[in-house]
Amino acid sequence: MQETRAKYLVLIPVSITLLSFLAGAIGGLYWGVQREIASDLRIFVVYFFLGSVFVSSILFVFFRFLLGRVQNKIMTSIMERERVEDELRQTELQYRQIFDGVNDAILVETTKGEVLDVNARACEMFGWGREEFLTKTVKDMVPPEYQALLPEEQDGSALSEKPFETINMRANGERFPVAVTGRIQEIGDQKRLLIVVRDITERKKAEEELLTLSRAIAHSPTSVVITDANAKISYVNPAYLEVTGYAEEEVMGKYATFLYSDLHSEEFYMDIWKQVSAGDMWRGEIGSRNRRGEIVWEVVSIAPIVDANGKITNFVGVLEDITENKKFLAEMEKAKEAAEAAAQAKADFLANMSHEIRTPLNAIYGMTSLMLDTPLNDEQQDFIETIRGGSDTLLRVINDILDFSKIEAGKMELEKQPFYIRNCVEDALDLLAEKAAKKMLDLAYMIENQTPPVVMGDVTRLRQVLVNLLGNAVKFTESGEVVVNVKSFLVENNQHEIQISVRDTGIGIPADKVDKLFQSFSQVDTSTTRKFGGTGLGLAISKQLVERMGGTMWVESEEGKGSTFYFTILVDVEPDAKPLTSNDVQPQLSGKRILIVDDNATNRLILIKQTESWGMLPNAVSSGAEALVMLESGEAFDIAILDMQMPEMDGFSLAQRINSLAVDSSLPMIILTSIERSQARSGDAKISAFLNKPIKTSNLFNVLIDIVNTEPVKKKAPKKLTAVDPEMGARHPLRILLAEDNMVNQKVAISILKRLGYRADVAANGVETIEALERQTYDVVFMDIQMPEMDGNEATQKIRARWPQERQPHIIAMTAHALEGDREKYISRGMDDYVSKPVSIEALVKALEKAVPVERRS
Ligand code: ADP
Repeated sequence: MQETRAKYLVLIPVSITLLSFLAGAIGGLYWGVQREIASDLRIFVVYFFLGSVFVSSILFVFFRFLLGRVQNKIMTSIMERERVEDELRQTELQYRQIFDGVNDAILVETTKGEVLDVNARACEMFGWGREEFLTKTVKDMVPPEYQALLPEEQDGSALSEKPFETINMRANGERFPVAVTGRIQEIGDQKRLLIVVRDITERKKAEEELLTLSRAIAHSPTSVVITDANAKISYVNPAYLEVTGYAEEEVMGKYATFLYSDLHSEEFYMDIWKQVSAGDMWRGEIGSRNRRGEIVWEVVSIAPIVDANGKITNFVGVLEDITENKKFLAEMEKAKEAAEAAAQAKADFLANMSHEIRTPLNAIYGMTSLMLDTPLNDEQQDFIETIRGGSDTLLRVINDILDFSKIEAGKMELEKQPFYIRNCVEDALDLLAEKAAKKMLDLAYMIENQTPPVVMGDVTRLRQVLVNLLGNAVKFTESGEVVVNVKSFLVENNQHEIQISVRDTGIGIPADKVDKLFQSFSQVDTSTTRKFGGTGLGLAISKQLVERMGGTMWVESEEGKGSTFYFTILVDVEPDAKPLTSNDVQPQLSGKRILIVDDNATNRLILIKQTESWGMLPNAVSSGAEALVMLESGEAFDIAILDMQMPEMDGFSLAQRINSLAVDSSLPMIILTSIERSQARSGDAKISAFLNKPIKTSNLFNVLIDIVNTEPVKKKAPKKLTAVDPEMGARHPLRILLAEDNMVNQKVAISILKRLGYRADVAANGVETIEALERQTYDVVFMDIQMPEMDGNEATQKIRARWPQERQPHIIAMTAHALEGDREKYISRGMDDYVSKPVSIEALVKALEKAVPVERRS
């Protein structure tokens, strides 16, 4: 543009000048020709030309100046106009951009609602292009159902600066919520509607969600409290009001802790505050008092609410009412306590009752022993013995019940002391030996080689279980045998599982009754006419005992054939313990030939195994006849073991026959007899030794060693192995009281004393001991140390304080915890002597020999 102008600025004066020059030249030429100025023509033409050039030049300069001025003016005005136009355009553009950039739809309409202008957001919101939009009216934007509200022409009264919410419709018919503001604006002399429409879909959605949320909180059965950052309540839901019993206005603005209760300390609340104000959540149980003063327990979660900068703005607490649960738990606890109290009462009652029953029973016992010491005829003697027997049975029943209730109440304490398994089994068998012998039953046991000799456990309870099973086996077996088998499995390191079985050849148990067997008070035969007595507690007690010892109990049985009761216990093993009898090859016995004659196959098997383990060469037969055939055929033996009770030919007869044999009259012979052996006939034959059945390995070993060491055997008198003197009681009469709470221990002691010819009365604890001493005089008291109610130490002190010196019994302490130096300990406590449990015959004899009857003391 500028360039064009510049061009004109040069071209116009130049062309004017040229034109005037041309005009001058042509005019001058024409004038000269007309006058025919020929000679001076050239001079004239030259002057004329020069004059023309001069004039043209002046003209040029003049025009150029003139034109420049005019042109400048024009240019300035043109540029001014262009600038204004530019600015206008710019402004419009800006306004348009702003107009379009507004996030609300802006519509300019006539008062009749015809759309005159819209911004981009309006097009976007309603879904029309701008051009199309300008053909629309308000009716196109309002759903038909709302159109009735539209005025025909807006006079402005229906419009307001404050947004009102309504529903609009997009081009595709979709309804959407809007907030509308509008006003009438005079533009020129025209009235225009300026409408601003805001799409509030998102806001409505959020509001809806919020509403749902607040409705949920309002209807929640859980209490909700919202506080400000200072823990002042700003919101509570109805559940909260319901639980606390307060009205909304009573709690608003209060500190959330206004329901403080005396159930918690101040520190408790302070700790909560510390935690939540540090930005952590707190959860726990809080007990408060509601408006009615009732205690309300709630599980409370308190969480801080933080803003974008991490500043705590509020706290929200959610409280779940657990008062009922608490009440329920408290009731349960009460019920449990009541049940425990009832169980305790039951146990106490049983203990009391058993004491109440035992006291008169002990009196009966004591009186019978007094009477038995007076002259009686045979019939009277028999009556008294029966009374004693009856009392014995009753005592056993009571002890069973007491034991059972002790286990049920969880009051059964188990000992953990080292003991020899073999001793335990032998002691249990000893107790049943007499009964078994009476029924002509063979009693035997076998302890397998890998069984550890010494284990840690409660020997008394183990023996109780064994005695129970053996007692049943003997009770329910009419003929045959009862055999105990012991084996052991390594569980880990030093722990073994000991499995013990008691097998009998008795009546057996019907398969459908096996399940009930181990339940308390249950018996296979429940008829009133049943043959066998019993409480039905023995197996229940035994099973519980072995379970307490880490094991189980079960039975295999065939009716009419017999039963095998098995049980296991877990024990720790004393790794360095030496077995009582070595199972290793013994040089003195090794290679010796031994003849075994026994009709009982189990016994034969046990004897074969045992002698073989010592390196002997056993040969076993089942009858005397077979033995004789063997000997007569020239077979030679170093030793013979003969069973006493054999059909057809018993042990003695066989011994005599062997003696009379020319071949082997010097054969050393051992006779196996039951405990009640009659030695009267022993003189008839040359017998090297008698062995009681069940054969104890240690006894057998000693006898065999004795025999092979003694030459010549023939000269040797029969060896009495156990120093049992049945006459001791007559020779050295003593009135004996046995204070011992454990039934099995009682049995063991009584049976030993009986074998020595003594009869003993029993007291189950210190209290009963003193009662018995009040009732009658005793020369000797065997005093167990650990007893319920009153232990042996206390009882001894009481006895020593109570009676004059001349009536004091000789007190012999009995305890399982035998240690070096114990004797001194017990003597310092007022006892006279001391034996260790399990008691041995030798120890009892020694202790009894030292005792002097009260009357003979000086
Ligand atoms: P009880 O004192 O009556 O013998 P137990 O609990 O010891 O109580 O035994 C329960 C019942 O189990 C016995 O009455 C008997 O019917 C049965 N029973 C136990 N041992 C044997 C056995 N070895 N042979 C047959 N029946 C047995």
